[in-house]
Amino acid sequence: MKKFIAGLFLSTSLLIAATGCSGEASQNENILIMGTNAAFPPFEYIQGTEVVGFDVDLAKLIADQLDMELQIMDMEFNTLTGAVSNGIIDIAVAGMTNTPERRESVNFSDGYFSSKQMIIVKNDSSIESTEDLAGQSIGVQLGTTGDQFISSFAKDGTLQNAEIIRFDKGALAIADLLNDTVDAVIIDEEPAKNFVAAQDNLQILEAPFIEEEYAIAIAKDNTELTDQINSALASIKASGQYDEIFNKYFESAE
Ligand code: GLN
Repeated sequence: MKKFIAGLFLSTSLLIAATGCSGEASQNENILIMGTNAAFPPFEYIQGTEVVGFDVDLAKLIADQLDMELQIMDMEFNTLTGAVSNGIIDIAVAGMTNTPERRESVNFSDGYFSSKQMIIVKNDSSIESTEDLAGQSIGVQLGTTGDQFISSFAKDGTLQNAEIIRFDKGALAIADLLNDTVDAVIIDEEPAKNFVAAQDNLQILEAPFIEEEYAIAIAKDNTELTDQINSALASIKASGQYDEIFNKYFESAE
């Protein structure tokens, strides 16, 4: 697993080097470059040598609608909005929550998935609620809404003496939870379920965080692409294709 992650970093930086850093994304009209952070199952993860997941399937359907070819760049989550603004990628599809802070630098499409934050602890943990996180070390993904929420709780005194440890990838936070380096991890609902299902000594605690809406990030000045993506999303939902990929990755609500 470690070797695998190291390889991933390497291929990511090579891809970034190969595509340069100034507006490459918009130069070929037939290619839609999607940036993501492929360590967020089931939205995006690595299978063999490929990036797969719900977001990838959704982006492929959108690219089909726009008559474009989808290319994927795997990068750190907290570099995605900058990469959209700089034109290194056309869109970020990364289980990214539409937030007011991010809306200052990018456009968001209509929402495509509702989520919230969860707390993951070991089965034998003494932590049973958000209040119990006081004085504990808490793992989050750098620059995510989980990071923002818990950091604001630590700042406003809701959580006294909590130590927040920021990781580039959710999987790395989980690894540190398993070896007791952190006491809890805050992460989005579906990845939380995925990580917990893969281990036999982890559990999820309900957390009082507000509902979030995932959306696709697009460059601020590119209202044309924002409109095209919203039309594509609407027709993918209306045609039943959205439900197909939803059922492929999630248990249906009924
Ligand atoms: N939904 C969270 C956010 O937008 C986490 C996304 C992620 O880690 N890929 O900050």
